[in-house]
Amino acid sequence: MSSSVALRLPSIDGLLRHPACAPLAERYGRDCLLTGLRQLLDELRPGVLSGQLSAVEIGAEVLAGRVGERLAQQQRSQVRRVFNLTGTVLHTNLGRALLPEEAIEAVQMAARYPLNLEFDLASGKRGDRDDLIERLIRELTGAEAVTVVNNNAAAVLLTLNSLGARKEGIISRGELIEIGGAFRIPDIMARAGVRLHEVGTTNRTHARDYQAAIGPRSGLIMRVHASNYSIEGFTARVPTAELAELAHTHGLPLLEDLGSGSLLDLTRWGLPAEPTVRQALLDGADIVTFSGDKLLGGPQAGLIVGRKELIAKIKKNPLKRALRVDKLTLAALEAVLGLYRDPDRLAERLPSLRLLTRPHAEIHAQALRLQPLLADVLGEVWLVSAVEALGMIGSGSQPVARLPSAALCCRPQVSKRWRGRYLLNLEAALRGLPIPVLGRIDDDALWLDLRQLDDEPAWLAQLAQLQVDL
Ligand SMILES: *Cc1c(COP(=O)(O)O)cnc(C)c1O
Repeated sequence: MSSSVALRLPSIDGLLRHPACAPLAERYGRDCLLTGLRQLLDELRPGVLSGQLSAVEIGAEVLAGRVGERLAQQQRSQVRRVFNLTGTVLHTNLGRALLPEEAIEAVQMAARYPLNLEFDLASGKRGDRDDLIERLIRELTGAEAVTVVNNNAAAVLLTLNSLGARKEGIISRGELIEIGGAFRIPDIMARAGVRLHEVGTTNRTHARDYQAAIGPRSGLIMRVHASNYSIEGFTARVPTAELAELAHTHGLPLLEDLGSGSLLDLTRWGLPAEPTVRQALLDGADIVTFSGDKLLGGPQAGLIVGRKELIAKIKKNPLKRALRVDKLTLAALEAVLGLYRDPDRLAERLPSLRLLTRPHAEIHAQALRLQPLLADVLGEVWLVSAVEALGMIGSGSQPVARLPSAALCCRPQVSKRWRGRYLLNLEAALRGLPIPVLGRIDDDALWLDLRQLDDEPAWLAQLAQLQVDL
């Protein structure tokens, strides 16, 4: 450095008064601006002292610009919308079911105004939040009563603890499943204070196995719908009706964890058969538990439905207070359940069902339409093709079932040793878009399953910004 006058960073006060900073103070508040400027100046100081920075680089306009970028970054919400093009519709990591407009309106109302959450408007007395959806649940499932908790894991925990603490819970070995996220039936039983009494074998459990296990210490019989895996071949399982009869002969409740639990027979929409809550109750299950945000298509919640006196016992458990749902969830849930009263229009109105039943031809046409546009943006290195693909329902529902779909398949036209890196770069670039796009890498290609691309304009609008590092 030949300059005899040493460079000096602008003062904080000077910067705060500078016209380039005024809009930042207006937008982000003076405190945030001050903190941002201090941090930036601290970082630049060594460079100034060592003479590595020029006068331009530490000019007020440049500094204001840099602080502005940082503040914008900090202000951006951590909860971000994404495009789920993974092919898994009810993706647990991506928030599972999308709420219908009716539920979104109900959530807004519940968020904005006081409401009768635990207040009976007819009598003017204290009410019970579960009552808000009880009529609908009774109508849609035939259950006598309902109570709602935070999710189905909580529903299972609470039910087990309320009905079987310090007693034995009898369950088939084939149903001792892990659902992911460290939810394992044996662990939940232990935490609920229920002693696990496993019967039968992994693939075959008979009525006589249950029969032999029943004794003075028995508290309940549990059945878990093995939603996330399937046992095929030489298998045997006792029908719910038979198991219920056995349980009732010995004065035990039969508890059935249905997992995704659908309220209607999904085969009418061409989807794989899934046991319905109504059928489980008709078969004699005393309590049925299921999720609100899997096939039901509502908010995260765990529904516990069944016999009135058992539900009353569950509601008296102090754990219920710890696991109860909030007003936003209840508002959304009521709105979603309301849609089930009109099954004919359900697939139009409930987004998860609409996406699950989207016609293959429509997705295929979309793939053909988008293929040249993506190919154009990605350039010669990538072979982009519109191909058939198989998606999944997700959230452990029907793990073997596949949903015929169509995808954009992107293959890097480079030697094998570079392919992995290209694919990871493309994946990162898609994730870096204003609305991150999530696909999946498989078979040396990146796949964007289009079943869930219903907001095509928003997807196209950001396509030009896609820049892949090579
Ligand atoms: C998904 C699932 C659960 C857990 O439900 P969450 O709502 O995710 O807590 C429990 N049991 C079964 C059988 C399930 O499929």
